Amino acid sequence: MKKLTGQDRETTAKWKPATQAVRGGTARSEWGETSEAIFLTSGYAYDCAADAAARFAGEQEGMTYSRLQNPTVEMLEERISLMEGAEATRCTATGMAAMTAALLCQLEQGDHVVAGRALFGSCRWLTDTLLPKFGIETTTVDARDPDLWKAAIQPNTKAFFFETPANPTMDVVDMQAVCDLARENGIVSIVDNAFATPALQRPMDYGADIVAYSATKMMDGQGRVLAGAVCGTEDFILNTLLPFTRNTGPTLSAFNAWVVLKGLETLSLRIHRQSENALHVGRFLEARVPRILHPGLPSHPQHNLAMSQMSACGPIFSFSLDGGRKQAHGLLDALELVDISNNIGDSRSLMTHPSSTTHSGLSEEARAEMGVDEGMLRINVGLEDPEDLIQDLDGALRAVGL
Ligand SMILES: *Cc1c(COP(=O)(O)O)cnc(C)c1O
Repeated sequence: MKKLTGQDRETTAKWKPATQAVRGGTARSEWGETSEAIFLTSGYAYDCAADAAARFAGEQEGMTYSRLQNPTVEMLEERISLMEGAEATRCTATGMAAMTAALLCQLEQGDHVVAGRALFGSCRWLTDTLLPKFGIETTTVDARDPDLWKAAIQPNTKAFFFETPANPTMDVVDMQAVCDLARENGIVSIVDNAFATPALQRPMDYGADIVAYSATKMMDGQGRVLAGAVCGTEDFILNTLLPFTRNTGPTLSAFNAWVVLKGLETLSLRIHRQSENALHVGRFLEARVPRILHPGLPSHPQHNLAMSQMSACGPIFSFSLDGGRKQAHGLLDALELVDISNNIGDSRSLMTHPSSTTHSGLSEEARAEMGVDEGMLRINVGLEDPEDLIQDLDGALRAVGL
């Protein structure tokens, strides 16, 4: 494997985002392949015993075992670092492995975490169930109000954890205000940026310490593989995250890393077109449904903040019907083009009923507090022609009397 001539970090960090997305992190084998190679190998061989010893001692560059390093995975990590503006990145098998590792690698018994209350269902399970089991106290706050973050700080607060926009209520967090507050108080800020991706917003530009991803969503972008990533300073990645991931093993497979590498090449094109389509579909729905939570529409209470942090609104938004679960399920069942699916970030349009799927594991109180009601539907708008989507939605709305 060879790093390409003239592609040291100093040079590639100066490339424009589109160049980084296509070429960042590329290394070539002796065959000079143009597309990145997939190294499906669990181990590596050494020329002599002394080399093996030197590599294990960290005195010689090179790989030892694919739980620890893999050339294809490293290409993806370098590409994500460049796109995110981060010093270093480590990839994981799933987004949840990334969130779990980002939290557990730096927390211990007696610590306290403040988290946004509107989080992906499994992220809420981490803060509500897993962390307390190990003696780590958590407080969840309405993440939209920086004063509530401030009020939740305790002497033992170690981390702030939030997503923006948040799933599925599309709550937007003022990243600069909340990350500044964290820094002033010696607290680490961790942002789950799955919805926006670095193509729309880079939380580190607003002071975030750590950015964590479900790369399953927009980064793959075509609903094929699960993947995750944690980005941070080199010191954090090498000295805090790596000991945790090397020994617990939430490693990304080389094949899945390759799929995400290919996904990143078209990320910006896809997310901007999907955002345009989501605006189109959102404007149509706004006139037909009682409530819509869409960061790209002026009716969203935090529209201005959302659009000042993101270069486009993203493909995902929610809306609510008055007829509860019955009407929401009725609308889903009447769709002919849009799939009933809880995934997001796909180039296909997908719709789900969060309270009976993604957020069904939470208590009724947690859902109510978060603003997930029984009539809420969440849509991921894909790359289809928006006119076809609108026609499908029009038929489904009529089928439930709207
Ligand atoms: C999907 C998702 C996750 C979990 O990612 P997986 O790849 O499914 O494990 C975490 N956070 C957010 C915001 C997500 O949308």
